[in-house]
Amino acid sequence: MKITDIKVYKIKPRWIFVKVSTDEGIDGWGEMISGTKTETVVAGAYEMGNRIIGRNPFEIERLWQELHRSFFRSGPINSTIVSGIEMALWDIKGKYFNVPVYELLGGAARDRIKVYSWIGGDRPNEVQDQATDRYNKGFTAIKMNATEELHYIDSFKKVQDVIDRVTSIREKFGFDMEIGIDFHGRVHKPMAKVLAKELEPLRPMFLEEVVLPENEEAFSEIAQHVSTPLATGERLHTRWAFKNIFKQGVIDIIQPDVALVGGILETRKIAAMAEAYDMAVAPHAPYGPIALAATLQVDACTPNVFIQEQSLGIHYNKGFDLLDFVKNKEVFQYTNGYVDLPNKPGLGLELDEDLIEEISQEGLIWTNPKWKNYDGTIAEW
Ligand SMILES: [Mg+2]
Repeated sequence: MKITDIKVYKIKPRWIFVKVSTDEGIDGWGEMISGTKTETVVAGAYEMGNRIIGRNPFEIERLWQELHRSFFRSGPINSTIVSGIEMALWDIKGKYFNVPVYELLGGAARDRIKVYSWIGGDRPNEVQDQATDRYNKGFTAIKMNATEELHYIDSFKKVQDVIDRVTSIREKFGFDMEIGIDFHGRVHKPMAKVLAKELEPLRPMFLEEVVLPENEEAFSEIAQHVSTPLATGERLHTRWAFKNIFKQGVIDIIQPDVALVGGILETRKIAAMAEAYDMAVAPHAPYGPIALAATLQVDACTPNVFIQEQSLGIHYNKGFDLLDFVKNKEVFQYTNGYVDLPNKPGLGLELDEDLIEEISQEGLIWTNPKWKNYDGTIAEW
């Protein structure tokens, strides 16, 4: 079999899909992250993808090495392009052998996958109602952003607001609802210590990105103040970026993103490294349907995954929802907070290619919110 064509699609609200075609009529689909550099990623995807036309799509490891290894290696743009193409190669291989991808990666390690639901949005306020809505839908785990803008040193009032919000959920559901709290890298070390310690009595499921990954030395300090599990990893790419996390040994949960870290096999390799350090995995997956489907393949065969992020429904006011492009919507059917293992060949998706073609004509311009502190300094979003 030979790769014959690469096509890249820009899909609102913020997704980039890639289709890899072959001379045997089997197409594979992958997904890349646009960030705020959509055109750069698309151009790079064609430049790198065109290099593997004529090659055997089954040689996934060799093609990955070839695409990854260059003088300018790794980095978010290179890595998301490699991730998208790699996913598509697995889709082709699974379809050819008529098995889900996880069957080619060791087979099922679990019966079902637990999922959590986002509440609160970027500026969380009234979260109790949303938590109730999720509880009524069967979810037993949610995740929320902790704060809005927070300066290096800021008012304790903002900390108290966070405590009040989380308390409102804890008081209503007791320990029947697990609560992940995402600092989203928008909290600096001095306030992260305060916030983590104040949240500890509420027994969060985990604290995510208590500081930005480039400040990873601060994880040790915060871990000295709290016993709450600490999570990070959604912005890291390739196993080399995770090396220090493992060496440092204070992070409890890693959160690789299959569409950024280098693809399905790279995520599986990083999870195996984490297993050797007794760390859990909760893959990051807030993007589109192909990335989520690829992530479920990893979840199926990875024993130290304990929960899966997903973002069904959260993009409806910004463009399309991930289900809109999927014909076999049951693949993302959640029952009592769990999703079944995918059972269709490849990534397990039947995509609405006509809609993808149509919507891609409209393009996309994704921008992240721009936040400022009370004194006009730029805040992390
Ligand atoms: Mg996060």
